[in-house]
Amino acid sequence: MVVRAGREFLAIPGPTTMPDEVLRAMHRPPLDIYSKEMVQLTFGLLRDIGTLFATKGNTYMYIANGHGAWEATLSNVLSRGDKILVLESGRFAVGWGHAARAMGVDVQSLKGDWNRAIRPAEVEATLRQDTKHEIKAVLAVQIDTASGAFNDIEAIGNAIKAAGHPALFMVDTVASLGCMPFEMDAWGIDVAMSGSQKGLMTPPGLGYVAANDRAREVHKTANLRTPYWDWTERDGDEHYRKHSGTAPVHLMFAQRQAIDMLFDETLVNVFQRHRLLAEAVRRAVAVWADGGVLSFNITEPKERGNTVTTVKMENPTPLLDYCRDKCGVILGVGIGDLHGKAFRIAHMGHVNAPMILGTLGVIEMGLQALGIPHGKGGVTAAVNFLGESVAP
Ligand SMILES: *Cc1c(COP(=O)(O)O)cnc(C)c1O
Repeated sequence: MVVRAGREFLAIPGPTTMPDEVLRAMHRPPLDIYSKEMVQLTFGLLRDIGTLFATKGNTYMYIANGHGAWEATLSNVLSRGDKILVLESGRFAVGWGHAARAMGVDVQSLKGDWNRAIRPAEVEATLRQDTKHEIKAVLAVQIDTASGAFNDIEAIGNAIKAAGHPALFMVDTVASLGCMPFEMDAWGIDVAMSGSQKGLMTPPGLGYVAANDRAREVHKTANLRTPYWDWTERDGDEHYRKHSGTAPVHLMFAQRQAIDMLFDETLVNVFQRHRLLAEAVRRAVAVWADGGVLSFNITEPKERGNTVTTVKMENPTPLLDYCRDKCGVILGVGIGDLHGKAFRIAHMGHVNAPMILGTLGVIEMGLQALGIPHGKGGVTAAVNFLGESVAP
């Protein structure tokens, strides 16, 4: 017996569920790349990406996924042999660091742990030791999608300032932009990057980067620059230079629609929606954890991200198979150090109460059907929390 007829639900942390309006926005012929509408589309998106990053700095749009946008950031501000500091909190900043190493950068890591966020005091101490200011950039991720850690980027920015260190502060917001507050200028971030396919509810394929004046000054002497990623090539006023070739017209139609939807909802509400739905997930997981089999990967509650929850569990495969094959709900697998030891519930982008409660209901059903020990009433705890939080 299966109960999966109906719409399949993707609860993985990217690509995420796309609104029907976003899918429909792409169902049209391309535009003349020199038309007024195309120019407006380009400049409108670049402006609005700046609004999402909360920066007055320049913004760039690439035909790329997150890995491409990583390369865009690195190649524009670094030179071969430069030293950088990667702040570990899971797989993603480490992956960004691997890209840098492959490009000839000397990568130093501030060892973290997969079950916690970055500690700003350790960042300050590490930078204070670098008295010769050899570290050219500090790399961090706002929400690490593997561990589920939420890093306090504002506090890390303050730690860099407190150390009096001139390194550029570079932040990955692939799993958080458009889902929670991010204040590039106010938090002292020099370079930020993101992608279209997670909180921004658009197909994979657009990579975004923002850079402030300090980063663009460093850029002038960076020798890892290559033509496609190069900011200077893209800083001209002419619209065709913004794409360094043919514009990704359909992805831009989709992204335009998705950002319009975020702005219509208002970012304040979007962030609150993510906070509430994430907390509903955590309430359920906390109850299930009483069975002694499941647990939160991130031990400190305030370090858990509002876009993805990583749940530790030995051999989660039968549960994931059950949810997918019997019920049509696809959960994220554990990756990196958590491969085979965790699963992930994504709650980012186009999600609402029925999607989240449905996902939690299916997980609880799977725990029951498979005889996996768990505390009873996880879904009830989530429902109660949302009922108390969302006023009539
Ligand atoms: C998904 C993700 C990436 C990588 O994005 P891709 O599009 O898969 O290349 C980078 N950083 C974070 C935090 C992510 O969640």
